[in-house]
Amino acid sequence: MRLSKKNAVVTGSSRGIGAEIARLFAREGATVVVSHRDSGPHKEEVVRSIKRAGGEALAIHCDVSDPSSVSSMYEEVEKSLGKIDVLVNSAGVSDGSLWNLPVNKTPLDAWRKVFAVDAFGTFLSTQGALKVMRKGGSVVNIASTPALAGDTEGLVYASAKGAVVSMTRMLAKSLAPGVRVNCMALGSIRTTWVDWLDRRQRDAYLSAIPMHRFGEPADVANLALFLASDESSFITGQVMVVDGGEVLR
Ligand code: NAP
Repeated sequence: MRLSKKNAVVTGSSRGIGAEIARLFAREGATVVVSHRDSGPHKEEVVRSIKRAGGEALAIHCDVSDPSSVSSMYEEVEKSLGKIDVLVNSAGVSDGSLWNLPVNKTPLDAWRKVFAVDAFGTFLSTQGALKVMRKGGSVVNIASTPALAGDTEGLVYASAKGAVVSMTRMLAKSLAPGVRVNCMALGSIRTTWVDWLDRRQRDAYLSAIPMHRFGEPADVANLALFLASDESSFITGQVMVVDGGEVLR
């Protein structure tokens, strides 16, 4: 098993990509903290499915945009597990209404909302994790391909993810050699993000992807596993693209 004896926190793992990463990490031997913001049934389902498959997991509430919520989560993590080895910052705002806003109609609140979770949340959660990464560790961030290649839509998301890319590189240098920090830049992955595209948008997206399909959460989880595990022990500060070849065009 590639993560045996390791403890991992995955933020925003009540659903979507985070949930898939949590399940895969548990299958590979990690004890996983299913960090969730909602109070709905999703997180229990993720923890139950991990336990049913013979893995170890616990759910801990955390709104990554709230410093006190992040501190409480790591206090609880320390009490329950003592230390962590891996953090995946998967929490992100998914709100279709913010996607195709023209520049002159983009309210400042949209910037505050997305930056609070995607950029500041990634920072806060990483800052908290460092206090409980007793023997070093691996931080895996999530950005998106428009942050690297530009796009006509998603200005606010791409800008927040651009901050995540810079944070990855800055922290990789300052935290080496103890803690590695890498980032996955995602194209279109089949979660709620793809659900809110209309048919015309879906077709346009698919025709731009050389692999002719949307990514699956498992495609992302497989890379997260590699970056979390010791197999990537000489890799830090990197941004790896998971997009079916889309940014080649
Ligand atoms: P998703 O299905 O919408 O899930 C988002 C997750 O983030 C949910 O678990 C949500 O929790 C959590 N979250 C939102 N705000 C939070 C907060 N303040 N504190 C803690 N958790 C919070 O999205 P996804 O597609 O899995 O996205 C996962 C990551 O990949 C995100 O960072 C996203 O930006 C990035 N990404 C996705 C795609 C894609 O095509 N899917 C592309 C590029 C990048 P609740 O259940 O409480 O809402």
